[in-house]
Amino acid sequence: MEPDHLRTTSVFLDFDGTISTSDVGVHLMNRLADDHWLEIEDLFEHRVIGSRECILREWGLLPSTQEDMLRSVALEIGVDPDTSMLVTGLLQAGAEVTVVSDGFGFYVPDAVALLEVPVLTAAVDWATGILSFPFADSTCPCAACGTCKVAPVQAAASRGRTTIFVGDGSSDRNVAAHVDYLYAKDNLASWCQANDVTYRPFVTLGDVARDLGLAQPPVSDSLGRSASRAPAVDVSPPGQ
Ligand SMILES: [Mg+2]
Ligand SMILES: [Zn+2]
Repeated sequence: MEPDHLRTTSVFLDFDGTISTSDVGVHLMNRLADDHWLEIEDLFEHRVIGSRECILREWGLLPSTQEDMLRSVALEIGVDPDTSMLVTGLLQAGAEVTVVSDGFGFYVPDAVALLEVPVLTAAVDWATGILSFPFADSTCPCAACGTCKVAPVQAAASRGRTTIFVGDGSSDRNVAAHVDYLYAKDNLASWCQANDVTYRPFVTLGDVARDLGLAQPPVSDSLGRSASRAPAVDVSPPGQ
């Protein structure tokens, strides 16, 4: 895709394992819950329960009113250092960018605060420890989701936007049938291969930026694409 087309494009970024270097929810469970959470995760992986049910059951195993502890454990996982380059490049090229995370949610807004893009995810009332889902969509094709990824993609498409989704995991599968371009890695890429779903592979968000013409290709790029193709982007690091 040429940078010119990004003006009419909406880009959706998963958070856990896509912006963050590994899944923060899994890390919280590994650090703070007993192994019972793996049985819950297994039910979700086998589609016995939806993601909302999965997240609520797992949240029940965490010390859900201990905000300071949960936040400090969540901060043990960093973010892809190319996140800022990708998002800044997209915004400068005129794209809409949204972070959409179907997880516990509480750690996402702070992690991407410097990017100044909308975040769709779950919310925690720290006084009661109650987890809620302001972006659930009971009418979507994956109505058992916590934070719906399909609904915002479809809303953008209905406004005539080209849609791009960047993700890595099980909760990203449902959007595959609804996006124009799917960037996938890890679990999501394996699922795409097994199900003949077209996707563009990536390892880091820098790969996505380069694929979208937002950053200079690596020196080894045999296509010889020139630096003039890349718009001026602020490549300052995300500040951590
Ligand atoms: Mg993920
Ligand atoms: Zn949904």
